[in-house]
Amino acid sequence: MMKAAVWVGNFKIEVQDKPKPIITNKHDALLRVTSTAICGSDLHLFGGYMPGMEKGDIMGHEFMGVVEEVGPDVKSIKIGDRVVACFDIACGHCGQCSNKLFSECDVTNSSDPQEDMYGHRTAGLFGFSHMTGGYAGGQADYARVPFADVNLIKVPSTLTDQQVLFLSDILCTAWHANELGEVKKGDVVAVWGAGPVGLLVVQCAQFRGAKRVILIDNAKYRLEFASQKLPGVELLDFGEHDTVKRLKEMVPNGPDVCIEAVGFHYAKSLMSKVEMAVGLQTDPADIINELIVSCRKGGIVSIVGVYAATANHFMIGPLMEKGLTLRAGQTPCQKYWDELLGYIESGKLDPTFIISHEPPLSDASHSYKMFNEKLDGCLKVVMHPTPA
Ligand code: NAD
Ligand code: ZN
Repeated sequence: MMKAAVWVGNFKIEVQDKPKPIITNKHDALLRVTSTAICGSDLHLFGGYMPGMEKGDIMGHEFMGVVEEVGPDVKSIKIGDRVVACFDIACGHCGQCSNKLFSECDVTNSSDPQEDMYGHRTAGLFGFSHMTGGYAGGQADYARVPFADVNLIKVPSTLTDQQVLFLSDILCTAWHANELGEVKKGDVVAVWGAGPVGLLVVQCAQFRGAKRVILIDNAKYRLEFASQKLPGVELLDFGEHDTVKRLKEMVPNGPDVCIEAVGFHYAKSLMSKVEMAVGLQTDPADIINELIVSCRKGGIVSIVGVYAATANHFMIGPLMEKGLTLRAGQTPCQKYWDELLGYIESGKLDPTFIISHEPPLSDASHSYKMFNEKLDGCLKVVMHPTPA
C-alpha cells in the first residue's frame, strides 16, 4: 500500500491508503515520487467544475521522482534514474506525437464522452478525470508512467527537485503561452492571471525580450509578489480598475499579445455566474472577451487557462474584424523539455521563486484549501511524500 491524495467530493481531498501501482505494460515505468505540486488545473477538479471525477481518484499531474522499476520495452530510462514526468501522456508514435503535438496524442485517452463532446480525444492526462483517461495521478508515494521513454525526462543530479519539477507542466506551459503568442523582442504583452502560471509567463516573456509586460489580477499579494520578483513588470489590479479601460490607457493601440492564464472557474460578471449556475453554459466568456477587445489589431490572443465546454456571449465580432489570431491548448511539455532544461542548467531561467509552501503530502487536504482560497500568501505548493 501507499499514501495518496484522493478526490472524495467537491472541495474534499483526503490522504488515503491506496494500492501501490504496478507495471501493467511493457513501456511503463514505476516512480517513487519525491516532489509533487498542486496546480491551478487541480483546482478545477477540486471544486467539481470539471466533469468526470470519481470518488477515490488519485490527484496530481506535476510530479517527479526516482525510477524503481521499468517494463521490458523501456529503452532510455533505467532503474535509479532521477526523472520528471510530464502531465500529458503521449504514445510518441501517432500522427499528433510525430508533429510534437504530444498533448493531443491519438492513443492514450479512451474517453468516449470526450470524443462525443469535442469531436476528438485529447491525450490522456495524469490525475485529471475520466474525461482524459482516468489515469491515477502523481500526488502519491508512487506513480505508474505509461510510455516511459516519451513521458519522462532525466534530470542531472546537480539540479534540485525545486529547479526542475515545473518541467512537468507550468514552466513548459508558460513557455507554450509565449510560443502560441509568438512573443519576441520588443513586444508588448498583457497577461491575465498572477497565479503560478501567469508569473512564469511573465518571466518567460521578459526572458524572450518583451519590451513591456503587464500583469492583471485582483489578488494584491500576488501582484506585490510579482513586482518584487519580476522587476519591470507593470501591474493592473482589476479590483481597482476596469481591466479594458485601464489597459487602453496604458497601451492605447493595445498589446501585441494577450495571454489568458486564469481559467474557466473564475467567472467575472454576474450574468456569467448565473448562466453557469443554471446550466446555460459551462464556462464564462468574460475574460476571453477582455483579451479580444484589448488586443491590438492583427495581434495574437493566447489561451493556456483551461476551459471545459461552452461559453455564451463570446465576442466573435471583434475577433474577426480586428484580424486577431486566437491560439490555445494544453501544453505538449515534451516539445520544450530539452530547451527549457538547458536554460535551467545555465541559470538563465529559475522558476523556483514561485514556491511558497513545501508541506508533506500528508497535509494535502489543507494544502488544497490554502491554494484554492489563497490563504497564507499561497502561490505554489510543492508536496513531498515520505514512503515507508
Ligand atoms: P491560479 O488559480 O493560482 O491562478 C489564476 C489567477 O487568475 C488567480 O491569481 C486569480 O486571482 C486570477 N484571476 C481570476 N479572475 C481574473 C480576471 N478576471 N482577470 C485576471 N486575473 C484573474 O492557477 P495557476 O496555477 O496559475 O493556473 C492558471 C490557469 O492555467 C488555470 O486555468 C490552469 O488550469 C491553467 N493551466 C493550463 C495548462 C495548459 O497546459 N494549458 C497547464 C497548467 C495550468
Ligand atoms: Zn498543472
